[in-house]
Amino acid sequence: MDRINILDLSLEEIEALIARLGKERYRARQIMKWLYSGGVQSFEEMTTLSRKFRNQMEELAFIGLPQIEKVQVSNDGTKKILFRLEDDLFIESVLIPGKNHWTACISTQVGCRMGCRFCLTARQGFRRNLKPSEITGQMTKILFSLPEGPNVRSIVLMGMGEPLANYKNTLKAIGILTSDYGFGFSNRKITLSTSGVVPMIQQLGRDICINLAVSLNAPDNAIRNQLMPVNRKYPVEDLLKACRDYPMPGRRMLTFEYILIDGINATPAHAERLCRLLKGIRCKLNLIRFNEFPGSPFQSPSEDTVLAFQQILVKNHYTAIIRASRGRDILAACGQLSGKALEENLS
Ligand code: SF4
Repeated sequence: MDRINILDLSLEEIEALIARLGKERYRARQIMKWLYSGGVQSFEEMTTLSRKFRNQMEELAFIGLPQIEKVQVSNDGTKKILFRLEDDLFIESVLIPGKNHWTACISTQVGCRMGCRFCLTARQGFRRNLKPSEITGQMTKILFSLPEGPNVRSIVLMGMGEPLANYKNTLKAIGILTSDYGFGFSNRKITLSTSGVVPMIQQLGRDICINLAVSLNAPDNAIRNQLMPVNRKYPVEDLLKACRDYPMPGRRMLTFEYILIDGINATPAHAERLCRLLKGIRCKLNLIRFNEFPGSPFQSPSEDTVLAFQQILVKNHYTAIIRASRGRDILAACGQLSGKALEENLS
């Protein structure tokens, strides 16, 4: 029988696995503590388990993590981590410095099939979904192998891919990120960013309570259809209804990401329309200036255009933040750049 990667298993699944060895259920929590609080990379290191049990586990399972291939640092301190997966595909995570802590941005898919026209990841096409072990594995490596690890306080699922298109594995990974036998992050410190897969937003709200960010980018269907194919299936009004109904943790506000593209969605008239559209939704807006990439079909707006857009939102009592350019905006919306582009952009 093939050995299984224990990092792909939930608590219940590990309980079932060790029940086959006649072991008590609480042992599963012990194993998970070693994996996620201890960051161990072998059963041998789990010294609270008997040697016999460790050997039995070794025969049944292995601890398989993505490998750090390269860490790059941008001028503003943002770090980009390139991971190699077991099948030699690559994904990336980003570490963003804050005042006293770091935020980790992690990926959920290799490539993406959502086809957003402003996004470089989309151009790579879709390769495959990440397994739970590959989603949480980015965090294990960041927390235990990088010097910033102990100071990572929040996580955004905003790297490569659409997390809600890899729902089962993403949900399982979030369960491990937030549980006391896993990494133990507060659910208020985890944000999932989506292009707007409406039924899965509703499902997420039923399954777990974490922050939601929506990549909106348009004040109406005509413009959004042009930028994001997902909108033809789930139009703005359905998306906003799902947003209104979404149970945010605590009194937190939903985030809308808005990439400003010259001549497309960034005029004062667009800002006014956006204000009317979002009326009554407790939200904040992240404004991101589009970054041109080789062959990109769009242009970046001027700084004045971005400021004028922001002012209209602020005048209408919205919290609208212009996202500081991080590693040349590697964070813009969900997984905007490919590994290759990041190598070009980061020095
Ligand atoms: Fe996929 Fe996000 Fe890029 Fe859209 S912006 S194609 S959802 S990675």
